[in-house]
Amino acid sequence: MSSYESIIEVALPLPLEHTFSYRVPPELLDKVRPGLRVFVPFGRRKMTGYLIGYCQPPQGQPLKDLFELLDDEPLWTDRELVFFRWVSSYYMHPLGEVLKTALPSGINQQTKKTGNLEKVSGGRKIRTERFYKARQSDITVKLRGKSQAILEFLMESGQQTSILELRRRFGECSPNLKRLLELELIVVSEQEVYRDPFAGVVVEHDSPRVLSEEQQHALDLVLSALDKGDFAPFLLHGVTGSGKTEVYLQAIFRVLEDGKTALVLVPEISLTPQLVQRFRSRFHDRIAVLHSALSDGERFDEWRRIRRGEVRIVIGARSAIFAPLEQIGIIVVDEEHEASFKQSDGLRYNARDLALVRGQQERAVVLLGSATPQITTRFAAEQGRLGYISMPNRVASRPLPLTRTIISKITSESPVSSELLEALAENIERGEQSLIFLNRRGFASSLVCVSCGESLQCPNCSVSLTYHRQRRKSLCHYCDYQLPFPTICPTCGGMELKEVGTGTERIEHELRERFPEARIARMDSDTTSGKGGHAKVLDKVRNREVDMLVGTQMIAKGHDFPDVTLVGVIQAEGSLYLPDFRAAERTFQILSQVIGRAGRGEIPGRVLLQAMNPEHYGIAHAVKHDFDGFYREELVFRQELNYPPFGHLAAIKLSAISEVAVLSVSEEVALLLHSIKKRLRLRTEILGPAPAPLYRLRGRFRIQILLKDPDRTSLRRLLTVYRGERSLSSIVREGIDLDPIELL
Ligand code: ADP
Ligand code: ZN
Repeated sequence: MSSYESIIEVALPLPLEHTFSYRVPPELLDKVRPGLRVFVPFGRRKMTGYLIGYCQPPQGQPLKDLFELLDDEPLWTDRELVFFRWVSSYYMHPLGEVLKTALPSGINQQTKKTGNLEKVSGGRKIRTERFYKARQSDITVKLRGKSQAILEFLMESGQQTSILELRRRFGECSPNLKRLLELELIVVSEQEVYRDPFAGVVVEHDSPRVLSEEQQHALDLVLSALDKGDFAPFLLHGVTGSGKTEVYLQAIFRVLEDGKTALVLVPEISLTPQLVQRFRSRFHDRIAVLHSALSDGERFDEWRRIRRGEVRIVIGARSAIFAPLEQIGIIVVDEEHEASFKQSDGLRYNARDLALVRGQQERAVVLLGSATPQITTRFAAEQGRLGYISMPNRVASRPLPLTRTIISKITSESPVSSELLEALAENIERGEQSLIFLNRRGFASSLVCVSCGESLQCPNCSVSLTYHRQRRKSLCHYCDYQLPFPTICPTCGGMELKEVGTGTERIEHELRERFPEARIARMDSDTTSGKGGHAKVLDKVRNREVDMLVGTQMIAKGHDFPDVTLVGVIQAEGSLYLPDFRAAERTFQILSQVIGRAGRGEIPGRVLLQAMNPEHYGIAHAVKHDFDGFYREELVFRQELNYPPFGHLAAIKLSAISEVAVLSVSEEVALLLHSIKKRLRLRTEILGPAPAPLYRLRGRFRIQILLKDPDRTSLRRLLTVYRGERSLSSIVREGIDLDPIELL
């Protein structure tokens, strides 16, 4: 007879919707606990799973025994497991895969060896270092040279000193240390150390600023919510330069005073080294930073520091929403409108949305900050589902920049208008900095054959190749396919290819020719690869080693450059005509953000914006800093077509290498959806199947079916039944995307 706790429920990281039961062998009974990793038999395989609870013995077939427990301490608390179950159910994604996504990759590796978080975890080594210490402080032996110097140093300090520190002071000294050990003058110990992503980075101390009236009002609202100790979500809608960060910092200060912790989500952390700096100079240590540029080892160490409660503040990109932080008092989502909070494959979660879910479970304050909040967020605030805090002015009464629009002509010789060139020249003369924004990298958008008119296309994706002049290559920005330059036209063998369209590389090139004396830098994903690549460029701008910075949307992201007084926008409609209902919203956001980089210091800023169609509401409202005007107009369009916030969306994304296969499967899927809809008498709109705008990507053909319903429950019912009834051929890949935001 088996007692209740002898049957455990295990989630496996497999594309299977249900969990599995195992029997616990008697010798492990007093060790099992939810949150541990377990090693279990599965079919003929053995694999690592996650113990998530206990269950009743199922009827029928006998249970298998689990082999081993892989951790001594649970990886997650019960409350965190509740959160992960929610995530699994909402995004219709297997719990085992959710848990796997939530762990740093170091821990994830499948392992057969028993280990625990303290010693070995799935193959990820704990880093140790040797530390040396003098045996006594009054040794009288006399040695010679370096050995004597080291000994004296250790005697004087009386501290454990790491080998790294000793090498820094004395150069290579292993033989000396060996000798000192032999003489029994010093002792050595092996100690665990964390890999520190900030090693060697010094920060200055920074104290809280006296708040502006608007900031104080915002902070007061947040503090009184914190005092209540209940879930309280807010939209902090503050124009660029209104000082949102200072509000976050002071709110977090209170949270820490109350003995709680803070979780701060930022879009792409490598783009915002400045924000991390501001946190570090205000709060010093006990901050963990999680982002994609960390090595596996660093990420693993940061994770363990958080789990052990050694950290009070976690700052990270989207996956930080899964950080094992307890006692959360506040969750800040900075730039809440950013699309990068959504993961676009695998577990398609949105960290901004999950911040509200986790905040509710933790009874925390959730602060969504932006100068250009999503239409849906602003709408939720208007309906009272979020508190609304507005900061419509910049700090120190700095004005928002004046913007002049220049209508660009297709016929013009240079992509940079003469007005902009003039303004850039003036800025150089005055010794002020300028930013030039164009949301396309490379030199030319493509190369076109003069004889047949065809452009160079990627053989794997439905896009043309971008010409990169410095690298002498044409590249696909999706799959990295490349053709060397020069090349002949693959269609007709023509020898002459013409450059069409402009990218940041070409702008940089033209500006260098025009202003040979100016210091010009470029910031796009071609120039910032490698660890700290962004920080290097940004530092140069801050230290005034650069007069002009040319870049893609990267230069628009929340940077605070007080000496930038001119912003030039080369093509305002960059993303306006993408086949996506959010195209206008995205354009408005990016333009508002770019415009907001000007005039953040003492000297007022100005903006010159080149556009073909400046009357478009996505552009015109950004120029006037008129969020409200844009919001009203956009809302009418959304309502007419039942787009969010008036309708909820889900996308079924199908892809295959065989075009025939994906076409026929998508027809079957659509038929099934229609029949379920009829059976359940739902009113869900089923749009498609239609080829994705990027029909071919990395060799796969892609079809989408979009589901739209004003009622979220109906939409979910349709999908749930669909998931129970569909059977897909194994050559077609299916992804269900709840609340999709990328429809390309
Ligand atoms: P936002 O994130 O809203 O665009 P920031 O938080 O970057 O704005 O603040 C803009 C600038 O104003 C920064 O340089 C910041 O240091 C400064 N600042 C913020 N609050 C104050 C204040 N109360 N007094 C003086 N300067 C401030
Ligand atoms: Zn490609």
